[in-house]
Amino acid sequence: MNQPVLDLSPQVSDEIRKTTCYMCACRCGIDVHIKDGKVAYIEGNRDHPVNRGVLCAKGSAGIMQHNAPSRLRAPMKRTGPRGSGQFEEIGWDEAYAIAEGWLRPIRETAPEKLAFFTGRDQSQSFTSWWAQAFGTPNYAAHGGFCSVNMAAGGIYTMGGAFWEFGQPDWDRTRLFILFGVAEDHDSNPIKMGLGKIKKNGARVVGVNPVRSGYNAIADDWFGITPGTDGLLILSLVHCLMKAGRIDLEYLRDFTDAPVLIDADPASPTHGLALLDDDGHKLVWDRTEKRARCYDAPDVNPDLAGVWEVDGIRHRTVFQHMAEKYLSPEYAPEAVAARTGIAAPRIRALAAEIARVAFDEAIELPIPWTDFRGRRHETMKGRPVAMHAMRGISAHANGFQTCRALHLLQIIIGSVETPGGFRFKPPYPKPATAHPKPHRRHAPNAPLDGPHLGFVHGPEDLALRDDGTPARIDKAFTWENPMSAHGMMHMVISNAHARDPYRIDTLFIYMANMAWNSSMNTSGTMAMLSDTDENGDYVIPHIIYSDAYSSEMVAYADLILPDTTYLERHDCISLLDRPICEAEAAADAIRWPVVEPDRNVRGFQSALIDLGARLGLPGFVNDDGSQKFADYADYIVRHERRPGIGPLMGWRGNGEETGRGAPNPQQLDRYIDNGGFCVAHIPEAAQFYKPWNMAYQEWAVEIGLFDKASPYLFTLWCEPLRRFQLAAEGHGPIQPPDHLRDRIRATMDPLPIWYPPGNAEDGEYTVHALTQRPMAMYHSWGGQNAWLRQIHGHNPMYLPTDLWERHGFAQGDWARIASPHGNITVPVAHMPALNGNTIWTWNAIGKRRGAWGLHDNAPESNEGFLLNHLIHELMPPRGDGMRWSNSDPITGQAAWFDLKVKVERVVAPADRVTRPDTGAQASPVGKGPDELAWVVK
Ligand code: SF4
Repeated sequence: MNQPVLDLSPQVSDEIRKTTCYMCACRCGIDVHIKDGKVAYIEGNRDHPVNRGVLCAKGSAGIMQHNAPSRLRAPMKRTGPRGSGQFEEIGWDEAYAIAEGWLRPIRETAPEKLAFFTGRDQSQSFTSWWAQAFGTPNYAAHGGFCSVNMAAGGIYTMGGAFWEFGQPDWDRTRLFILFGVAEDHDSNPIKMGLGKIKKNGARVVGVNPVRSGYNAIADDWFGITPGTDGLLILSLVHCLMKAGRIDLEYLRDFTDAPVLIDADPASPTHGLALLDDDGHKLVWDRTEKRARCYDAPDVNPDLAGVWEVDGIRHRTVFQHMAEKYLSPEYAPEAVAARTGIAAPRIRALAAEIARVAFDEAIELPIPWTDFRGRRHETMKGRPVAMHAMRGISAHANGFQTCRALHLLQIIIGSVETPGGFRFKPPYPKPATAHPKPHRRHAPNAPLDGPHLGFVHGPEDLALRDDGTPARIDKAFTWENPMSAHGMMHMVISNAHARDPYRIDTLFIYMANMAWNSSMNTSGTMAMLSDTDENGDYVIPHIIYSDAYSSEMVAYADLILPDTTYLERHDCISLLDRPICEAEAAADAIRWPVVEPDRNVRGFQSALIDLGARLGLPGFVNDDGSQKFADYADYIVRHERRPGIGPLMGWRGNGEETGRGAPNPQQLDRYIDNGGFCVAHIPEAAQFYKPWNMAYQEWAVEIGLFDKASPYLFTLWCEPLRRFQLAAEGHGPIQPPDHLRDRIRATMDPLPIWYPPGNAEDGEYTVHALTQRPMAMYHSWGGQNAWLRQIHGHNPMYLPTDLWERHGFAQGDWARIASPHGNITVPVAHMPALNGNTIWTWNAIGKRRGAWGLHDNAPESNEGFLLNHLIHELMPPRGDGMRWSNSDPITGQAAWFDLKVKVERVVAPADRVTRPDTGAQASPVGKGPDELAWVVK
């Protein structure tokens, strides 16, 4: 026998180092196998609360991300014109001196001239703290162009939202409905959950124009017309209310449905809640026949109560709901054509929701006590869970659509009940528990408070004394009053237009604004490199930090090179976006499992150095010396409140969780524990969290908040009504006249549906979308040698009707035009698609020269961006005004309101997609022809 000798158990590593994945935002635990000091291979951490050992394709491809040829190697200063990609490598001292040379004079004279915006980083509690210390009002992360509607809609309605804020009760759910979820968000946790509920025999329903990813494994798929999800949801609400299949007890006890609302249109407080002298909301008490505070121990709220005070009639929120949602305009027959879903299917889905919620109701034998002091012997459950993401929120009607979805969940009593949707600490936390936005700034002084927050009326807007926007992105103005995450997608165009004022330095971290993270990509590149009449750049200075040579790098004057995620310290913090589960608080760290082999520095450490050089409060000691050595030192020693720091675990003497003095050994203890810390919620506190005193007390004990703060879900969103009241002429702070009608129409205190901004696009009748693939996370994966083999280019997918109507055949190309521009791209046929929608994968296309890719890379030739067709401003209206392409309430970028027309064209002779934006020089050169190595 001549058999080869095989080593069936090769030693793959000398050591395993446990850290947190960053190939997407799920933050799974990973075991990084190290051999001879190099990363040999990555597997899932079986003990980790997020992934329990599961690792996705992206996660295992982290080794190629860590070794990517596109990694930046050293700080750089620009030597050629902006956009050219010509740089000179410099040392960190010189880089800091350049940055300080720009930032110090700004801080000393006009701190608002710094615009500091960050992308999908996970250190926003730190970066915002830095920006606050600097004193600029111009800070936000990427939420405005991502999914602020989902977050704000949830927080204003029920004190939390999907994804990082909550999760389905995977163990008990019997019906799971997904709305508009792209496959890259909530990746492993949702895949594991779907596996679990499928195994349990539960049904999965997908509502999405595109049947890819999770929708492909749904038992039932609703290929809805983009932008009409809210209409479908409110039709479901209509059916359920009409059939009386709603949870009246839940609405009565845990929501504002019985709260009395001023119902007199002539009253200056029309639409606001009736309050007692202490400002508490009043309900009509059925037993005592009088208005009483909602949280009185023996109150018996009446959903149908009516009460007259001083001649003004008050009706309950529930009565307003009945009047609105029982209207025939929400009947399935009335919404079928618009949504693209036949009326019988809508009725069937409503009936299925009702059947599972009420006929399959569950009851856990766990006693608990509510905030009124009432003891409940069991926990009742409605086993219908829902999940949604950017698909329903990235529309101009997205905020109200997200609220509508939560209304649907709430009327069947499936939020924070067994089998339904459950919050993850530090949520639930109502909008009133969050800060308001702050804007007041002065030379050499910190901002007067956190930049971002939740407004509750016109007085909270970020307007200067003359009524003009205080922020460069115009967040928290009458145009987008409740822009809780800022409006990053408007920063470059506003800075270029010097509107509302001129800035000096644009400082961006980890956001590819010159490519896939901007609407109007070509226009954005032009704005970044535009010069004024003196030949000076319109945006005078641009500092950019990233780990990789993305398209944005070429447009910066100064590059601060970041590390890869395996070379850095990070904290996935309860102060920020932690990794909690519905049954536990949890946080985690990253730490350098390998040391960088380049002259790079973790961005947060660089900010600490810069903060110290600038003498920012909090970054220096009393004698002016640097306070924190680096980000790791900050993570351990920083206290946001006494005893509360970035990490909850092993505080004080090493035995305290949540609260406790800084512990110098804290990071070591995290590393010893696999990179994470978990604090379980007691069983009696695991459901009904907003009203459950056991949870409230546990949350105080662990430091999530300082006193028990139960609250009611707010189906009637008073902040919206306050803006409407102003638009009706009430109050001292008034909107500009041209916005009154829009505010009145969109800011209804109850969830509504209105057509998105594209309704009148004339000849542009076809919806166009992107989906993000499971194997990529934004543009990060498109440079990864393994993941590129899954998605190297991206055709435009067309539904059967359009395909046949235009006579397309395999291999054909099309010109896709919008009011803003056109692209010429390859097409492919996809039957499982809404009949009037086309779509493509997001962020696969790359600009030639970027990311260390070769000039003949398919991403740069056959790949493309839909962004070229989307403008950050809507087309001019009759009065010549151009509104931002955003939700009028929150300012969320309305990426998915795009409408186009499709034309079959001959493929370009070079078979390169158009527009061809040309090549950038690569500051890191090109990758090798073959990228393979063996760690022996
Ligand atoms: S789901 Fe995200 S965090 Fe988890 S292994 Fe995959 S890429 Fe990493």
